[in-house]
Amino acid sequence: MAPTTVQCPTCGKLVAWVDTQKFKPFCSERCKLIDLGEWASGTYAIPGEDLDDIEPDPRDFPDE
Ligand SMILES: [Zn+2]
Repeated sequence: MAPTTVQCPTCGKLVAWVDTQKFKPFCSERCKLIDLGEWASGTYAIPGEDLDDIEPDPRDFPDE
């Protein structure tokens, strides 16, 4: 009996749905990370450019 296969959401490659495929439904860790990255950037509007404009506020770092 052939194992169930799914398509990698990132690249469309057929992936066997087996216990040894720890990145399922992705074909590889790379595809998984790519998908997670797109998910993160699409879900959370992280203003990447603004990060450079944020300077540490001295009040957030009290003398130790
Ligand atoms: Zn893939």
